[in-house]
Amino acid sequence: MEIETLPLPAQKSRAAFRLFLCFWLFLPVIDCWSNSENLTLSDEEWRKKLSSECYRVCREKGTERPFKGKYWNCHEPGIYQCAACGYSLFRSEDKFDSGTGWPSFVRPIAGHVTSKPDSSDGMERIEVICSRCDSHLGHVFNDGPKPTGKRFCLNSASLDLQKK
Ligand SMILES: [Zn+2]
Repeated sequence: MEIETLPLPAQKSRAAFRLFLCFWLFLPVIDCWSNSENLTLSDEEWRKKLSSECYRVCREKGTERPFKGKYWNCHEPGIYQCAACGYSLFRSEDKFDSGTGWPSFVRPIAGHVTSKPDSSDGMERIEVICSRCDSHLGHVFNDGPKPTGKRFCLNSASLDLQKK
């Protein structure tokens, strides 16, 4: 039986083509991994990276004044990302006018935010943080509209809208 053999340069270019194909096939997977990877920076690094307002809210759990942030009255379509690390957190379709003066959503992008009990300021609340970098985003309450009944009450300083 005769085995087909290719000249060496042709073999090399085939191998290179296969490698190229693999790279493009796996690129979305690699991209997905890098996005969900936890981001841990030192306090000093956060201070350098973020604006003073963003640092105060995201890293020191501050709250911005109502009706003062840039997104409470924003109706533009897009994805709201974490202002500290760029992770996609909320969709404009899930935003609603809560009347509180803070940007409010009925749900986050599934798995992209974490909630935990918070008893600061003499109140029992549920804090909402970015799943990737643990930055403080705001709080979630059970007095939201349908379909979830949740009100994710956030600080504009924690968000960065990527317009569609
Ligand atoms: Zn983040």
